[in-house]
Amino acid sequence: TFTLGPKITNWDQERKAWLNQNPEYPNFVKGKARILLLTGSPPKPCDNPIGDHYLLKSIKNKIDYCRLHGIEIVYNMAHLDVELAGYWAKLPMIRRLMLSHPEVEWIWWMDSDAFFTDMVFQLPLSKYDNYNLVLHGYPDLLFDQKSWIAVNTGSFLFRNCQWSLDLLDDWAPMGPKGPVREEAGKVLTANLKGRPAFEADDQSALIYLLLSKKEKWMDKVFLENSYYLHGYWAGLVDRYEEMIEKYHPGLGDERWPFVTHFVGCKPCGSYGDYPVQKCLSSMERAFNFADNQVLKLYGFRHRGLLSPKIKRIRNESVTPLEFVDQFDIRRHSTESR
Ligand code: UDP
Ligand code: MN
Repeated sequence: TFTLGPKITNWDQERKAWLNQNPEYPNFVKGKARILLLTGSPPKPCDNPIGDHYLLKSIKNKIDYCRLHGIEIVYNMAHLDVELAGYWAKLPMIRRLMLSHPEVEWIWWMDSDAFFTDMVFQLPLSKYDNYNLVLHGYPDLLFDQKSWIAVNTGSFLFRNCQWSLDLLDDWAPMGPKGPVREEAGKVLTANLKGRPAFEADDQSALIYLLLSKKEKWMDKVFLENSYYLHGYWAGLVDRYEEMIEKYHPGLGDERWPFVTHFVGCKPCGSYGDYPVQKCLSSMERAFNFADNQVLKLYGFRHRGLLSPKIKRIRNESVTPLEFVDQFDIRRHSTESR
């Protein structure tokens, strides 16, 4: 049967020894866990060339957030395992990075179609001290309804530890392209509420695993819904103006969503559940909404949420440091709890 690689059984001890021997690469820096954000896109150009432009906006958005918050970032375009092409590609990537970067405490996977829309909000990491996997999701949707959208795998956190390697091993077997993925899709559709008939996807497979082996895995899984670690775009993008009027960045929830994720949009691929134009203009709005938060320090903002053009929001000053004190996001964001 399919495996992600040779079975590793002693990662916690190995990693601990490595960390002791390499004090110049600590997994905690100034009391904060080292986080690596991992994202990526297919090896080839998008079917639709404008898709590549939106991939560029999406990575710029992530670079901005990560720079502001001291998070490292990896962009992968290779299929590390040809059998796990497509949305399954994140599994071998996550495993590879855990093993190659023992200094990283958390791997944060984020889809290319997800944008940071709250540049101030920070992960409440201390909440997750006793957990190894953090997913946006709802316990009732998962355990009572067995819904195929009970959790989302577009933005989630994995601790670098043996438990996570074991979970990846248990998650992967439905992934191999071809008959395995096709047959597994039937099992998932038969068991998960609301799931259309199609090949096995990583999200459904994880939900199925958490349902069928609840005792084994759920102890260390945190289902987060107090803020949008993932936020479904359709209910959010039309409300940005209202949010700007009433609220402020740093809240991360429905008042000012941390992440806006374009589930069902495929600007890079050839098919999606929504019209491409609707997806692209909504992404444009999400990008500019976030970019305004970044541009503020420099004294600019977009002319509108649909405009790539910017305008000045204050005059140049001969005492520029007063603006740094006022507008530098890094000094205003503290871990929310
Ligand atoms: N992805 C990748 N390489 C691929 C295909 C997908 O890195 O060859 C990543 C990409 O970041 C994408 C994510 O996997 O956003 C999820 O795949 P997809 O967009 O097809 O699924 P959806 O986001 O619609 O659930
Ligand atoms: Mn996605």
